Amino acid sequence: MVIDEGLYRHLWSQSREGLLLLQGRQLLRSNALGLRTFRAPGCRRGEQWVPWLELQLNTFLAAGQPYWQGLYQRPSGHRIWQYQVWFERFSDQPRTLLVRSRYLGTVDLRGETGRSESDHEQQLRLILDTTLVGKLLLSEEGQVLYANPRAAMLFDRDPSELVGQYLGLPLELGQVNEVDIPSGGHLRTAEISLIEVPWQRGSAYLATLSDVTERNRSREELQVLRQAWEQSPVALVITDADANIEFVNQAFEAVSGYSLAEVRGRNPHLLASGETSPRTYEEMWRKLQQGKAWRGEFRNRRKSGESYWEAATIAPVRNAVGDITHYVGVKEDITLRKHTEEQLRIQANYDALTGLPNRSFALRLLESTLLLQQRRRSQLAVLFLDLDRFKQVNDQAGHQAGDRLLQQVAGRLRHCLRQHDTVARQSGDEFLILCPDLEGALAAELVAERVIRIFEEPILIDQRAFQVGCSIGISLYPDEGTDPELLLRQADQAMYVAKRQGGNTFRFFTRSMNEQVQQRLKIEALLRRAIDREEMTVAYQPIVRLRDQTVVGAEALLRWFSPDLGSVSPELFVAIAEETGQINRIGNWVLEQAVAFVRGVQHRLPGVESLWVSVNLSPRQIRQPGLRHEILSLLERSGLPHPQLKLEVTEQMLMEDEGSSSTLLHDLCQQGIQLAIDDFGTGYSSLGYLRQFPFRILKIDRSFIRDVPHQRDACILVRTVLAMAEELGLQVVAEGIETQEQLNFLRRYGCPYGQGFLLGRPCREIEFHQQLQQPSAAASLTSLERGDQGG
Ligand code: C2E
Ligand code: CA
Ligand code: CA
Repeated sequence: MVIDEGLYRHLWSQSREGLLLLQGRQLLRSNALGLRTFRAPGCRRGEQWVPWLELQLNTFLAAGQPYWQGLYQRPSGHRIWQYQVWFERFSDQPRTLLVRSRYLGTVDLRGETGRSESDHEQQLRLILDTTLVGKLLLSEEGQVLYANPRAAMLFDRDPSELVGQYLGLPLELGQVNEVDIPSGGHLRTAEISLIEVPWQRGSAYLATLSDVTERNRSREELQVLRQAWEQSPVALVITDADANIEFVNQAFEAVSGYSLAEVRGRNPHLLASGETSPRTYEEMWRKLQQGKAWRGEFRNRRKSGESYWEAATIAPVRNAVGDITHYVGVKEDITLRKHTEEQLRIQANYDALTGLPNRSFALRLLESTLLLQQRRRSQLAVLFLDLDRFKQVNDQAGHQAGDRLLQQVAGRLRHCLRQHDTVARQSGDEFLILCPDLEGALAAELVAERVIRIFEEPILIDQRAFQVGCSIGISLYPDEGTDPELLLRQADQAMYVAKRQGGNTFRFFTRSMNEQVQQRLKIEALLRRAIDREEMTVAYQPIVRLRDQTVVGAEALLRWFSPDLGSVSPELFVAIAEETGQINRIGNWVLEQAVAFVRGVQHRLPGVESLWVSVNLSPRQIRQPGLRHEILSLLERSGLPHPQLKLEVTEQMLMEDEGSSSTLLHDLCQQGIQLAIDDFGTGYSSLGYLRQFPFRILKIDRSFIRDVPHQRDACILVRTVLAMAEELGLQVVAEGIETQEQLNFLRRYGCPYGQGFLLGRPCREIEFHQQLQQPSAAASLTSLERGDQGG
């Protein structure tokens, strides 16, 4: 239902109560009765109130209570007009209040008509009728004989209505009791005390009643507030306007270690540790003086001397007139949180094992240092360092030893650098070094040399000495780049080159390196799908018995034709496949192809049943755990006799080996699969390996054959190898025979087998078949023979 304004106005004006609606002390609306009751004499509208109302309003507004009631007595001529008055605040609009007044009656100072009172009686009645405490005269049985207006107001009745009633009040002399009194639908609480007075011929009770409803309510509220204050889990402080402490709660006492008695009257600055910046305090006071709340953090000191972190909110407290009278501070001990934050910061920025900055932190450092360098126009070097032979430490002594080695390396690195250089752990066994303020590349070179030298001394772990080294790549700011990520990547690429050149050395990044690296990355990506896209093939190069020019075997050689790159040299892509691990899959595929190839030749061409195929194995393949099973089951499936598969491994590979492949090679040899040592003569201690591993075939490297018969050294070497091989019972294949002269030379000194462009280029399977079938093959061999005779 909508009550329209007209109806409101009607209800408002017809009310038997005087009504004022105020906003603060400004009048919003009133009715005639309200104005007549409270308007100051001589004032037309509500611009000014009677002093009593002014006073009560001030008190009420300042106290902030929701409700108040009182007695207003207005003298007028020889009468006193009495009103009951209520103030009510609206809970949703705390500054809006309704003042209601109800006329109680008048006290006529001249006495009632028809009966003359003595002066004495008159005085007595005047006092009783106007006093602000309730007075009741009760018979010995408790019947009301007289009630003054204040008492009647307490019961929400007219005085005349009370007379003759039994109110059930306790009639105990000499005591103060609290009683609940039903009053206009509510209960009010009053304190009542009685004295006995002589009355007519007997005696009566004179009861004094004071309304303590409001007092009790505010006491209860105060109690709740006090408990909340004391039990609050956050520390609370109230100071006066001069910042002298008036109250603190238990949480404050617990956190600070000071009791209320110790801090009362003192400035909260007594907690200051000296570690909070003066700016914080200045800012706080500026805010507070502007009358605003301030939020921030202090680093304070407890009474025990221990320092702690505190988050504080401090706000001014104003009185009714708006002046700041107090400050209240809400404080929370956040030491634990700060500690955790610090831990997290360390975790996020530092490597747990070595305590060095981690990669992301180093990058940020680099970023900010570069800005500085830019301003100072100086150079900075980024060194990317990777340990050599670290894997061996892990493999031989376990990961714990590896970890301790890294810690020691970190220590040595820190030690050998200048104070404003930064060393960080990139990942695993990789470290970063940032050297700002350098004078050119030479200075960076000196740093790199110094770093390499720290590895000269073996690292001791559990009395075991480990000799690791390091490869370093260097990129210079601003010569090579200005972007932190880029500098890092370049240094990484240069490190990679240093590593490939044998390690224990450093390389500066150059542009061409970048191209190489880009090319490698491209190859790596394309290689991944080369088999699936059938871009790979295997070529077969005949291996020929030199005595009678018979093709006795073939070497399987990988070929890759990429639509993007054209044909890629196996020397390049095999190395990449080796590094990325893709060689295992590719190598297994080559084995399958090679076996299928020999089977195919045997099926088609009678008389070549003993043709064998030689397959190159790379180091990673030999370490592949399933290789033995792979080879044996392949032979089983194809039914190829074991001696018809030969495996070629290089000397280089045996040098890098850590012992694991020896068992595998012995095992395969026992299974009848022959091993060839490839590229013989290019390694170091060749003879040692010949004895250590079960080789049956030795392939003399192309570089020696190239120089015979014109270079004496090469000739002596080839002859010695041939003689030695015969002693050891090894078969020899000479690689890379390109000329008749070379062939003649080899035959003269009894080299049993050969391979080379002169005898046959690597070709596809089908061409290989054709070559074997055609009489021209024999013819070409015959012509060779003729050439031999001719030479
Ligand atoms: P390698 O094992 O020494 O193979 C012989 C290389 O010499 C082949 O190069 C062959 O084409 C080449 N060659 C043969 N006769 C002559 C000649 O008369 N003159 C000259 N100048 N070169 C000759 P290719 O095919 O480029 O292979 C290079 C290397 O790639 C191989 O050297 C081998 O180490 C590796 N490789 C090739 N295929 C495979 C494979 O399937 N697996 C593994 N792991 N490595 C392979
Ligand atoms: Ca080979
Ligand atoms: Ca070779």
